[in-house]
Amino acid sequence: MSPASAAALFETTFGCAPEGVWSAPGRVNIVGEHTDYNAGLCLPIALPHRTYAAVSPRHDRLLRIVSAQSEGVVELSLDDVRPGHPGGWAAYVAGVVWALEQAGYAVGGLDVAVDGSVPLGAGLSSSAALECAVGAAISDLFGLGLLQSPTSRRDLVTACVAAENTIAQAPTGGMDQSAALLATVGHALLLDCRDHHTEQIPMTLDKQGLALLVIDTRAEHALVDGQYAERRASCEQAARELGVATLREVATSGLEERLAVLSSDLLRRRARHVVTEIARVQGVVGALRSGDFARLGEVLLDSHASMRDDFEISVPELDTAVDASVDAGALGARMTGGGFGGSAIALVPAARADEVRGRVAQAFHDKGFGAPHSFLVSPSGAARRET
Ligand code: ADP
Ligand code: MG
Repeated sequence: MSPASAAALFETTFGCAPEGVWSAPGRVNIVGEHTDYNAGLCLPIALPHRTYAAVSPRHDRLLRIVSAQSEGVVELSLDDVRPGHPGGWAAYVAGVVWALEQAGYAVGGLDVAVDGSVPLGAGLSSSAALECAVGAAISDLFGLGLLQSPTSRRDLVTACVAAENTIAQAPTGGMDQSAALLATVGHALLLDCRDHHTEQIPMTLDKQGLALLVIDTRAEHALVDGQYAERRASCEQAARELGVATLREVATSGLEERLAVLSSDLLRRRARHVVTEIARVQGVVGALRSGDFARLGEVLLDSHASMRDDFEISVPELDTAVDASVDAGALGARMTGGGFGGSAIALVPAARADEVRGRVAQAFHDKGFGAPHSFLVSPSGAARRET
């Protein structure tokens, strides 16, 4: 899983060397969950784990796509890309070519070979890593210049989101693609989903003797499609009943009195999560700026409780990962990503990282869950050309 392995897969599949290799990272969100579609704030970092795309342009409109993480070569014409087609993983590749063409850029066919180390379906955004690696390649190969500046990179974010929403038909917000295209080494990316403003927030935990542990629970995402749509619909209904365009416009002061007008307790809990979660993003940014890591840990725990109790998107594996981490000495921990499985993060003293990993694994074993996969991460860089 390197630029060389993607290039080697390209050569064995297509019989020649690729024009180049591009990569993009997975991401983990530090705080700010289900806030993106509520015009709120979130704070992802790019992972050291990356997806590599070895790519050559073609002179016709054919797309040929292969991945080390999947079987077979997918072949189709760019003219046949449409919502739901191609199905499966190739949608994330074909969708980006389609979206850039829809946006008015002159693009064409491609040969693409993918290899990556971002865990698939773990809530660490392998889908956006794949889209953005391919998007970076298309930008360079067709001279679109989209990697040049944060502003042009935002246009590529928009195309990759359109690929995921329209062709892969996954109704996600823009956090994943923004992290993959805009994050920088040693920083978390503060993303304001109302006006797309971004800010780089320094996050160098190692200088404080701390580390960030990602725990991929490997729990199945059952029923996740309907649940995501329900949460989105509930947030929209709560905003309507509150007379605001989005829940971003609701202040935390006097929140309970305002939420009292909502038509159900369910809507109150959904809205309470979103409003308080947006405030927690600001709390984490403040804690990072002032170096108050005890406070940072507390905010992560508050965020987890809100997702578990008010937004109801946690599962026993995620709660176990959080509880066992804290028992073993983490300053704080929370589930991360959309929920119903996926991963948790824990802020740990670096010297206790192995202890925390061991205790989480033991707790999973004791409860009869499958073994989790946990690893330390530090904030890494966005999509780039590799070779
Ligand atoms: P996440 O983005 O959290 O990993 P998603 O369900 O959004 O989860 O995306 C996972 C899907 O993305 C996979 O099921 C697969 O279709 C596609 N995918 C991501 N990376 C690769 C890869 N390297 N090779 C093939 N497919 C990939
Ligand atoms: Mg995804």
